[in-house]
Amino acid sequence: MKSQFAPAAALPPQVHVFIRDWLSSNNVLLRGRGGNILIDSGHVRHVPMTLALLATPQGLASAPLAKLVNTHCHSDHMGGNAAIQARYRCPIVLPEGEAPLIDAWDEKALLLGYCDQRAERFHYDEIIKPGETLVWGDLEWRPLAAPGHDMGALVFYNPEHRILISGDALWRDGYGLVMPLEVDPRALPAARATLEMLARLDIRTVIPGHGEPFGDVTAALERAFDRTAAFEADTLRVARHALKAVFTFALLDKQRFPAAELPAYIDRIDMYREFNQRFFRLPAAALAKLLLEELERVGAVRREDGWLRPA
Ligand SMILES: [Zn+2]
Repeated sequence: MKSQFAPAAALPPQVHVFIRDWLSSNNVLLRGRGGNILIDSGHVRHVPMTLALLATPQGLASAPLAKLVNTHCHSDHMGGNAAIQARYRCPIVLPEGEAPLIDAWDEKALLLGYCDQRAERFHYDEIIKPGETLVWGDLEWRPLAAPGHDMGALVFYNPEHRILISGDALWRDGYGLVMPLEVDPRALPAARATLEMLARLDIRTVIPGHGEPFGDVTAALERAFDRTAAFEADTLRVARHALKAVFTFALLDKQRFPAAELPAYIDRIDMYREFNQRFFRLPAAALAKLLLEELERVGAVRREDGWLRPA
């Protein structure tokens, strides 16, 4: 598995981005005299790699970690929380809106067991509210509410260097899955409102939750608005996209999955079963075929001797 440090271009020396494959969110390390802060902890599958990256000279080396912060509480952003907390004995800081879900360990709202994702349970120590000003890595960061993909998500904006740590609210090409209107009527309108809020910010560099940092924010926002319009026009497309996204993540975690078992999986895992009853009303084998064809066409999944593998 390859892992890398993001090119330092356009980022001040306090900001370090660790990029792995799409399964784990990026880790953003902010190093400063006032203490070192890590934003997001990746997927539980990558915990050994995350701890190893943190121990490198480009990471913390032997320095302490003052806080671990999450942009939002999905498996690929909080999966290393428990292990990092155990290693560094640091407080965990959550967006205000995520705390009740963690208190309840709500496997549906957190998109865990509901869609066959996993994360290790952890305890948090502090919450962040939008509107505060935080000093991390000797830089000022403004937490901004960024609901849509996740209704409690925050993004972090540094006005001095015009950096946005965007989590899954904005990627170079799109953003994290949203729930169809019939499942959560707030989600898609909130995703649009969040893009409009981001379009009003003066941003030079986006550090997304997945993929490399990027600079052409106008083009990324345009693609995100186009996707939103396509979603608004076609709720089945939103539903298909959400199922394909969660299956791609599950496959990256499992690494291989028997193709013949996909229909039974669709009947067994709550999100697939509920979405099929609500949106597609297909025999599980027919929905499996439809999803697989689309995933193979975009090159997310390949078949090999009866196994599905991430491509
Ligand atoms: Zn997410």
